Amino acid sequence: MKKVGITGGIGSGKTTVCRIFATLGIPVYSADDRAKMLMTEDDELREQISYIFGEEAYLADGSLNRKHLSSIVFADKNKLKELEAVVHPAVHQDGENWHNAQENVPYTLKEAALLIENGSYKKFDKMIMVYTPEETRIERVMARDNTPRKAVEARIKAQMSDDEKVKLCDYVIYNDGEKSLIRQVLEVHKLLSD
Ligand code: ADP
Repeated sequence: MKKVGITGGIGSGKTTVCRIFATLGIPVYSADDRAKMLMTEDDELREQISYIFGEEAYLADGSLNRKHLSSIVFADKNKLKELEAVVHPAVHQDGENWHNAQENVPYTLKEAALLIENGSYKKFDKMIMVYTPEETRIERVMARDNTPRKAVEARIKAQMSDDEKVKLCDYVIYNDGEKSLIRQVLEVHKLLSD
């Protein structure tokens, strides 16, 4: 059972492409969603987060105090690094357990925005990149998140450029709205299922 990673910049269409893979029966792991879940449900991680951010890291009902955390990490890069240093290993271990629990599938798919940037792409058998022209990404994220153009552009600037990422990937899916997404997913799925 191969381990496949899928990446692409914000608004490239990773989530959309993963939904198509899921309809083909491929198990999909979303690192963002799982990280959010683990931050509230994993006891060890909760303890580490409380240690870094204090008791206010969690609200009285046990949920994560996102406002508190984001106000700190936006202002303090070191705190962000500390947070990542505890969340990333927990998500990585959870992803491994999840992969090992799958059965009767040719491969699993793990979705994360920063697989290339943080070097974890090396742990995958194959990498897929969702490649979308920047202007299209900006327009889609503005519509999806109801965010102003400037904010989207700043988030794109903070990420590695697509042209650098694409060199490290095995398959590229173009999501420019012209080439059929479904057809491209089927082609990649066939290659990965052999
Ligand atoms: P990502 O997960 O990479 O940030 P999404 O899959 O959420 O990107 O896609 C960003 C937005 O663009 C979403 O609102 C999605 O519905 C839309 N979108 C994605 N692909 C297409 C497409 N081929 N045509 C039109 N809209 C699209």
